[in-house]
Amino acid sequence: MANLIFEHLKKVYPHGFVSVDDVSLSIEDGEFVVFHGPSGCGKSTILRMIGGLEDITSGKIYLDNTFLNDILPRDRKLAMAFQNYALYKHMNVYDNMALGLKLRDLPRTVINTRVKTAAAFLGISDILTKKIRSISDSERQRVALGRAIVCHPKVLLVDEDFAHQDDNLRKDMIHDILKINKELGITVLYVTNNYEEAVSLNSRVIFMKDGKVIEEQHLSCPLIFHPSNSQNMLLMIFASPGNYKFHASERRGLSQPFSLLLFDPLPEKYSTPYGLQYSYLPSALFLPDGFLPGFSLQLQSHTL
Ligand code: ADP
Ligand code: MG
Repeated sequence: MANLIFEHLKKVYPHGFVSVDDVSLSIEDGEFVVFHGPSGCGKSTILRMIGGLEDITSGKIYLDNTFLNDILPRDRKLAMAFQNYALYKHMNVYDNMALGLKLRDLPRTVINTRVKTAAAFLGISDILTKKIRSISDSERQRVALGRAIVCHPKVLLVDEDFAHQDDNLRKDMIHDILKINKELGITVLYVTNNYEEAVSLNSRVIFMKDGKVIEEQHLSCPLIFHPSNSQNMLLMIFASPGNYKFHASERRGLSQPFSLLLFDPLPEKYSTPYGLQYSYLPSALFLPDGFLPGFSLQLQSHTL
């Protein structure tokens, strides 16, 4: 059952600028969906409309068959992780995580259980009494996610502003939201303008441009193949290093397992058992003209 449905969603700002233009999508319960596109293409506007922070000009949003447009933001069963974590620095970790539950007037014992369970899940049980100003950025990021999950949302919205620019913090954050998605079953909508990141998450990617959805791909392996500008050329983008095992077939009828060990950074030239040479881009390999049609690679496994 799809749990989040957009029907002809549109956002026009008062001066007439169309920020989101007729977006229709159906997102399954428990899916991890990535929205990718250049800055200004309408990604954050979509998240803000779902979250109720922005009026919907036209179109409809349904969450579990409930018409969401008319529901107050706090009653939408959604959690949002946006810029700067919006934590109260003078308060401790426990109170920051409990705040949304207190505003909903939940009993103390329920709040206590939920905060402690979420803290254990995110590995921050030992800092519950510490003030936000005294903990690290990585811990703050987890507290912000903890505050989102204590409300038991059906959907978690993560905007790219939330993701720290520091590579390690970003990796930690992605690890945490994947865990939230897989282990808690919460649907995640994740916005990023970083292409490599978008294609590396083993997820459905919605590509946007000028307020519209221009393409959708379900990427179930850590690399993608797509035709490059030159005809008969195949570009493979590798989202991460590691040992890739393929099954290769080519037009002379050869068909055999084929593995590619990619280090980070990639070697400048790479020779394959077929005696073929690949030139490279960072994290990408081009198969030269003449490979296609008739050559195919099927990914069998990827190990780091
Ligand atoms: P993204 O998150 O993909 O970078 P946004 O959804 O933030 O893009 O913005 C989409 C477009 O809408 C941008 O061109 C932006 O300038 C415009 N926009 C965003 N907020 C407003 C606003 N409050 N008033 C007018 N235009 C806006
Ligand atoms: Mg944005």
